[in-house]
Amino acid sequence: MAKKNIAIGGISTECSSYSPLFQSQEDFRTLRGQELLDLVDFPFSEYSINVSPLFFNRSVPGGPIDREYFDEIKHLFITEINAHEKLDGILLLMHGAIYVEGIDDPEGEWIRAVREAVGLDCLISVSFDLHGQVTDKIIKNIDAFAAFKTAPHIDVKDTYRRSASMLVSAINENYRPDVIWSSIPVLVSGEMSSTFVEPCKTIYQSLEQFNEKREILDCNLLVGYVWADTQRATASSVVTCTNKKIGARACKTIAETYWNSRKDLKSDMQTGSIGEALLWLNSEFSIIADSGDNPTAGGVGDRADVLQAILKHNHDDSLFAGIASKSAYDELKKGNEFSIGGTFGGGGPVLKLKADSVYFKNHCAVVCVSKTIIVISKTRRPFHNLKDFTELNLDLSNFKILVVKSGYLSPELQSLSARSFLALTEGAVNQNLVGIENKKRHKKIYPFQDFNNFIPRVSDGESIVS
Ligand SMILES: [Zn+2]
Repeated sequence: MAKKNIAIGGISTECSSYSPLFQSQEDFRTLRGQELLDLVDFPFSEYSINVSPLFFNRSVPGGPIDREYFDEIKHLFITEINAHEKLDGILLLMHGAIYVEGIDDPEGEWIRAVREAVGLDCLISVSFDLHGQVTDKIIKNIDAFAAFKTAPHIDVKDTYRRSASMLVSAINENYRPDVIWSSIPVLVSGEMSSTFVEPCKTIYQSLEQFNEKREILDCNLLVGYVWADTQRATASSVVTCTNKKIGARACKTIAETYWNSRKDLKSDMQTGSIGEALLWLNSEFSIIADSGDNPTAGGVGDRADVLQAILKHNHDDSLFAGIASKSAYDELKKGNEFSIGGTFGGGGPVLKLKADSVYFKNHCAVVCVSKTIIVISKTRRPFHNLKDFTELNLDLSNFKILVVKSGYLSPELQSLSARSFLALTEGAVNQNLVGIENKKRHKKIYPFQDFNNFIPRVSDGESIVS
């Protein structure tokens, strides 16, 4: 029997519609060839399947993707599919939280274009982030779906394995799974829906019990992405199955379970204003997460609100990692005076400061201002891994306060077992949800509105499954 052919590729980012910073080609890193195969890390050859890596574009989350660039990169992806010999399957690596002005459902458009290019016989399997959005357009055009089950995400490779495995089994055993979904009118931040704390911990563990049914291949709960004001923004349950009726029961139960837990969704960190964070500090090593400007959720990462407060209150031995500012980096190359805060357009106070000392490493300026160390990065980036500090010769044991631009702490920062505080700061990913602009989002959605009557409606993308 001739070997079957599949291709791999896609696009992944998270776009805050509240960020002024548009994403374009230079924000994305492209993975191709062996690098893309290594990322997916699935033994396709053991299943007698030829695999062709196309490309996978991903970026640090940010603002909306520039419309022209989105159209161009989608067109390039389709051109590469068209240039390929006939495909039996395609594995799409997506996120689900792309925002493009003027396009209601960017992932839906991308996947629909792929379906048109590969034809109806080809199987499409999709990997998503659990902070992604689902729509009928997406579901209608796919044959298998798997999303992350952990946030913070530690099961990325496992999710690729789940979607690749459904794809190769269906191709080799010659069947076509169904994907069905229900929206859930709940939309909270990732910090309120961490899968390492309740109620999501138990809900996500319970997904496994549905998978024990023979007719169910993969069950998912997506909490969605709250910082894009779009009509499609909701949580959702998504089930890949071989029997729609049985799958629909699981899909409804997952939707109802999440809905019934909505009032228990809250951050597991202590939260409050910057002022409250400063009052909470004591002599122990403590971490403050500047959450409204977190670049890994779509914040700009350039704001200086917390720095201003710390400098004003003379908290010595503080480390800020980091604040993005190319202009401050360039100024420090020339002298010791610099301006910082909002230089990429993220807003907030502008501070005019004088460096007592500075050194440069890894495209960062490490500056000392009145016994406070500030890491100024040339580009937007997180400082969530311990090596981000050691690479800059920064020893965390020399500090009493670490301020990072983050929501829930990364697993590595959590491993420090330090006292931590989620500062509800201003920015493109403001955690004070009820106050964020809400023009296009569906009008009945918790916590923007509080109501009790929700009955899940399961759809296969074209019609209701009862
Ligand atoms: Zn995510």
